[in-house]
Amino acid sequence: MAVAHTDLRVETGIGTLETRSPATGEVIGTVPIFGEKEVAAAVARARDAAAQWGALSHAERRVHLIAWRRELARRADELAELIHRENGKPRTDAMAEVMVALAVLHHATERAARALRTRTVSPGLMFGQRARISYHPFGVVAVIGPWNYPAFTPMGSSASALAAGNTVVFKPSELTPLVGCFLAETAAAAIPIADVFQAVTGDGRTGQALARAAVDKIAFTGSTTTGRKVMQAAAERITPVVLELGGKDPLIVAPDADVDRAAEAAVWGALTNAGQACVSIERVYVASELHDRFVDVVVREVRKLRTGAGDDAQIGPITRPEQVGVIREHLEDALKKGARVLVGGPDGIDGAFVPPTVLVGVTDEMKIMREETFGPVLPILRVESVDEALRRSNATAFGLGSAVFAREGARQIADRLRAGATAINSVLTYAFIPSLPFGGVGDSGFGRVHGDEGLREFSRVKATTEEWLRLPFSATTFKVPANAYAQLRGLVQQVFGGGVVDRVRGALARLTPR
Ligand code: NAD
Repeated sequence: MAVAHTDLRVETGIGTLETRSPATGEVIGTVPIFGEKEVAAAVARARDAAAQWGALSHAERRVHLIAWRRELARRADELAELIHRENGKPRTDAMAEVMVALAVLHHATERAARALRTRTVSPGLMFGQRARISYHPFGVVAVIGPWNYPAFTPMGSSASALAAGNTVVFKPSELTPLVGCFLAETAAAAIPIADVFQAVTGDGRTGQALARAAVDKIAFTGSTTTGRKVMQAAAERITPVVLELGGKDPLIVAPDADVDRAAEAAVWGALTNAGQACVSIERVYVASELHDRFVDVVVREVRKLRTGAGDDAQIGPITRPEQVGVIREHLEDALKKGARVLVGGPDGIDGAFVPPTVLVGVTDEMKIMREETFGPVLPILRVESVDEALRRSNATAFGLGSAVFAREGARQIADRLRAGATAINSVLTYAFIPSLPFGGVGDSGFGRVHGDEGLREFSRVKATTEEWLRLPFSATTFKVPANAYAQLRGLVQQVFGGGVVDRVRGALARLTPR
């Protein structure tokens, strides 16, 4: 049954767009395309709402965000169904997405008061001053989201932004607009202040209009290519941005790893959501001595997987039709350059369904090892040492997630991986722990969502000083004593040059437990 969304507050827009089931092509619904004018109106409403929402205490906002969470939990079946229909992922995966989305909302709600409390810090040499750090809402945050986790990814930014006292204008992907509308509809039902969380549907033009609009911060999640455009648009108004972009995440299997567990985790990490996760395992570097066993277990497990649109399927369709072409191109390029298919392969592609594919004999020159494939593909590469695995893992402009399986020295290996996150003896887990900051380096973007870092990302940090002790001398006057130079020089020597204060400080530092 098709859904027409009439409750979006846009009369004309610049057209409409249809959302379709990726599995069947059936039209699921029609939504307006918000143009510049409509986006500006939504931002203006969000600005009015921000005056009220931002003035509430953390305790008051918490009550409203709990109400939204409960409303979403009450209607979890509807949300999971919409995710399943628009994105195509199996219903169980859709419900798992609902769960992790609510987990980040819950965490931000409960954590905001503590993470954003005003702190007093040392005044350093400014004796007599009290130094304070406080956190304030920016105002209006634009959230631009992708289709692969259409509820979880926008919630990652929105939960922190809202809990920090901002209002949100959310532009969902053109492939999953109804999920965006559902989030806005439930927020409106649960939160008594209007327009705290709005959805503006549309395509890239709507996203571009929002990135150029008079918002105070932009949280973009999507491809690196679009991320660059968003950053350029944001530069016009010097709007700060958080960019959560693509990845080419490596998994390292060290010689002492539990090879069976590593192989099973690799299969899930590469193939869950049909490989359409920003933190999908896209490359595996396996120690030579474990390689053959690892490949055997991977092949055995992948053969058991069911692909399709039915409720028993574990691998759903590719959501974005153009992505099938990219996956095919990466596979054909790899085969042409000498890779071997052990399961699946390009010949098995059937419309939107790509069979889970395992490749060996891959090299770093192949597209499949360099560019984001974003499909159910697991390329395995044999390495002679952990150092080699690390060197090859880090030889990419991306740096989002990563994983290592090892018994000894796993933490050291993890620390040497150039990425925003590493899972040791598991895969992707960091993305589902809401108290951990999430984000990348390099072409994977910058800024953090989730955790205390996420709450502070959506806060304007304010430094305040206040005199609490009136001293006989002052640092902020031209009325200085004639020997000021000598006094300052003495201070420099005592405090920084090995003088008495410096030595006492050193002794105290040595006593402090680490
Ligand atoms: P995309 O870049 O094509 O689109 C993302 C959003 O940007 C959509 O809402 C789209 O309408 C909008 N958009 C398009 N052109 C725009 C423009 N010129 N200005 C502003 N907005 C514009 O990405 P996608 O295909 O929806 O998502 C897949 C990508 O997202 C993958 O690369 C994946 O790795 C990445 N991703 C990253 C994370 C993360 O947290 N790092 C999470 C999920 C997905």
